[in-house]
Amino acid sequence: MIGLGMTRTITILGATGSVGASTLDLVRRNRENFSILALTANGNAAQLAELAREFDAKLAVVADEACLPALREALAGSGIEAAGGAAAVIEAAARGADITMAAIVGCAGLAPTMAAIECGKAVALANKEALVSAGEVMTAAVKRTGATLLPVDSEHNAIFQCLAGNDPAHVHAITLTASGGPFREWDMARIHRATPAEAVKHPTWSMGAKISVDSATMMNKGLEFIEAYHLFPVGVERLRIVIHPQSIVHSMVEYRDGSTLAQLGPSDMRVPIASALAWPARMNTPCAPLDLAAIGSLSFFKPDEERFPATRVAREAVIAGGAAPAVLNAANEIAVAAFLAGQIAFTRIVQCAEDVLARSLPGAPASLEEVIAVDQEARRRAAEMMETAG
Ligand code: NAD
Ligand code: MG
Repeated sequence: MIGLGMTRTITILGATGSVGASTLDLVRRNRENFSILALTANGNAAQLAELAREFDAKLAVVADEACLPALREALAGSGIEAAGGAAAVIEAAARGADITMAAIVGCAGLAPTMAAIECGKAVALANKEALVSAGEVMTAAVKRTGATLLPVDSEHNAIFQCLAGNDPAHVHAITLTASGGPFREWDMARIHRATPAEAVKHPTWSMGAKISVDSATMMNKGLEFIEAYHLFPVGVERLRIVIHPQSIVHSMVEYRDGSTLAQLGPSDMRVPIASALAWPARMNTPCAPLDLAAIGSLSFFKPDEERFPATRVAREAVIAGGAAPAVLNAANEIAVAAFLAGQIAFTRIVQCAEDVLARSLPGAPASLEEVIAVDQEARRRAAEMMETAG
């Protein structure tokens, strides 16, 4: 049974990241409710070891095997098991904690997330790229294993809460809110010249670099559109996006009778993370409740797909189906990395994703291995395209 009131084991995949830190902050404030099974990171052995010691984890894993000696050294004498390599991250996820926080960034988190799902327990999903890439493969695994998939992305967590106790057959529409990102009011010329430093400066949320760039291009909302398509099967024609710069209304569900339920809250990831960690109960967070009178007004706008084509491209990918969403995600990951490395212009990110998508791979990946193969091939094509363009 999920909920607070007893100690549950928890594994955090991506413990050193932004979502990982917010998750650990809540665990730190509720130590009696959680016992850490495994913490994983990409390569920051020192930070991971410090967290593993603080939380008395059973296991600490670095995905980058070259960092394992440093991790072993930092954990010497602690009794905490250390492991390294991508397979070791998957193995940690497969140990089956009562709840696994999937907070690795990118499709790198797919195989570990799937390993956690295979255990049939609760998986709190922040790692949207995994669901975007694996779509039907992941949702079928959830169904088959009886795992509980708890959305952590603030919009999807909001929708999950607004759907509770209601029959999805009565849903008229689901509306994802989007802040619009840091370039919401910029003209095309200025957007084209946007720098990595400008792109990672999000107006309302503090997040990792990749998702911050995605928010600036609006690809984050495109990926979230695909994520919502899989989490809440109401059909693509019932999914909407509205710009809401204050990030107070996190999303809403409109029912056939004209009632719209929305979830509101501060723009702090600890709120949706707490909702997932305690579900179906509730837990305290240090977040101050909303002061609506101080906020004063909430505004909503139609998205501008001329300046921000990413949501159109994502919608086209989900309608195309098959390998298209995985291709889109992979190409976007490569393009975002190239932009952050100063190799391509900001507007090239979505162009690149669209170009790789246009030569999409035929067929629909039917297994985890096939999704990973599509992801790898799309990455290769995106990198090649960027080389020739550069
Ligand atoms: P981040 O970059 O801050 O952290 C990523 C974590 O993944 C780190 O612990 C890193 O060590 C690990 N990692 C990176 N590459 C890895 C690899 N190849 N193998 C194994 N581990 C690897 O990212 P974040 O902002 O915390 O986002 C994590 C996920 O949550 C993303 O999918 C993002 O879209 C989603 N999300 C984040 C937020 C947010 O507020 N940050 C909100 C909603 C959804
Ligand atoms: Mg979100």
